[in-house]
Parts: sequence; structure tokens; C-alpha cells
Amino acid sequence: MRSPRQFSTVLLLACSLYACARDKSGSASAEAPPTQPAASQPPPDSTRAPQAVVNGARTMQYTKEIIACGPRYLGSPGHKKVEDYLRAHLKGDEVENDTFTVDSPEGNFPGHNLIAKFPGKKDGIIVIASHYDTNYPLRKTSFIGANDGAATSALLLELAQHLRGSKLEGYSVWLLWTDAEEAVRTWTATDSLYGTRHLAEVWEKDGTLKRIKTFLLADMIGDADLDIQRDTNSTPWVEDLVLEAATRLGYQSHFFAQSTGVSDDHLPFVERGVPVADIIDIDYGYNNVFHHTVQDTIDKLSPRSLEISGDVIWETVQLVNERK
Ligand code: ZN
Repeated sequence: MRSPRQFSTVLLLACSLYACARDKSGSASAEAPPTQPAASQPPPDSTRAPQAVVNGARTMQYTKEIIACGPRYLGSPGHKKVEDYLRAHLKGDEVENDTFTVDSPEGNFPGHNLIAKFPGKKDGIIVIASHYDTNYPLRKTSFIGANDGAATSALLLELAQHLRGSKLEGYSVWLLWTDAEEAVRTWTATDSLYGTRHLAEVWEKDGTLKRIKTFLLADMIGDADLDIQRDTNSTPWVEDLVLEAATRLGYQSHFFAQSTGVSDDHLPFVERGVPVADIIDIDYGYNNVFHHTVQDTIDKLSPRSLEISGDVIWETVQLVNERK
């Protein structure tokens, strides 16, 4: 993603000794101990709205596991590992692999967008997207993209927990993990957004684009200091819905105190007339100092921010469903 602000740097990576351990926290087991009596249950979190769905601790755990795959730049072992990790978590779901070639200034790489489809009763699709790749120019450093790609890829996995099961009452929801969002050398219109530029073209040709009611993009919203900007490149009425969702949940103080125009995975869709919102916090550390640096690590994130971001995305989906 590119914003009017700047970024920079590098480092070294603690490649995990354990490769992307799968999370088991969501699965029930026959050996599970009996449920505790009600009296010993912790009181409900009174700071959260009743319609809250996202489990911040579990989302944080997914984030750690994605980070444990290693750096996820194009052509890297970590890139392949994280794809396998995501697919393993989506076993049993309807998953489409959209394969393409990243024709970049540094050569060709295989790219894969992953789409998990959860059918709804209404005719139409809401897409929720996050990129999972990390920055290729930082490949010789320890850059791990905890907030930039890992946290939001984890958030989509968490949302999948709430989408699977019976048919959704509203529109179908497609979770989209995009690849090759980052520039391979320097950000330009042709060196960036490889995955979404490819997918938008495919969906334009096969008629899918016309069925997309809203495209919601999540990027860098695990930041412990959460201040999401209004993106002036997004569709105003969708941005308004995001703010309405945040207000319904009492989270509006984290939203839209500032406006800025962001270049991100939503652009190939908004250019084709799809209503989009890029839900992004590009004020990451003082003066955005953690963005695209080795300082983008898990300690800068918080489960609370993931809950706020994820719940607002979920509530926005409800508002799109309620729209006439
Ligand atoms: Zn980035």
C-alpha cells in the first residue's frame, strides 16, 4: 500500500522453528472438559457491544502463526507456507485458487489469490479482502509485516469462523486473501497490486463484478494505537456506512478523524465501478515510522484493535445487507 506519507527500512528475521503451527483453539474435541458452571464464568465484557463477534485473542494467535511462517515475499518459502496455512484453515469451505503470473521488474513469480466463499440467501456478494504477501524489496531484512498483511489475513480467518455453517441471511460473503499487493521494486501503477489487478479483470470478464455489492479492504488495522483514516479514494457512501457501523458499536473515536487518499488493493475495483472502502490505519507509529520497517512486529498490535476493526467490518456487512 502507498500513502502520501513515507516509509522505509530493514532487518533480520527470526524464522520460526515451528512452521506455522495450526491453531486448534477453535476446534472442539470429544475429550474436552465439561463446561464450567455458570457461576465461575467471567462476566461478559461490558465494554463490547452485544453484536460483537471477533475474538481478539484468537485473531492474535492466528497472526502469530502467520508470522511464524516467515517473511512472505514473492518466491519465498514463507510465501508458500502461509498459503498452505490459510488453505489448511479453510478445509471444508468452498475455496477458489486464482493463480496468475506476477510479471515484475525482478522477473516472473507465481501468484495466488485465495477466495473462500460463504453463500447467502440474497443475490449478491460482499467481498472482504486482505493481502498476505510481504514487501519484496525488504526480503534481505527481517521484515515480517505483522500489521502489514499478517494481522488482517488473520482477521479474515477469524471472520470465517462466523461465516461457516448455515446459509447466511444476507448476501454471500467472499473472503479474499490477495497476493502481490506490494511493489516488487518501486511502487508504480504497473509495479503493485498484481493480484487484485488480475482478479478485477477476471471478475469483469466473467460477470462477477456486477454482483459485488461492496468490497471491503482491511489493511494495517491491528495497530494498538488505532486511528483509521477516511480514504478519499474509496466510495463515499461505503465509507459513511463504515462510520455508521463504528458509531453503532461505540467505536467512532477510532475512525475518520483524518482523511487521506490511499493506493491499495481496492483501486482495481473502484476503477471498475465497484463500491469499496479501504479500512486502513496508515498512521502506524509516530509519523508512520513502523510502516515497511523491521519495526512492524507483533508487539505493536493489540487484540482489542483487532476486535474493534473486525467488529466494525462485520457490522458494515450487516448495514450493507440492510440497505435497500
Ligand atoms: Zn505494505
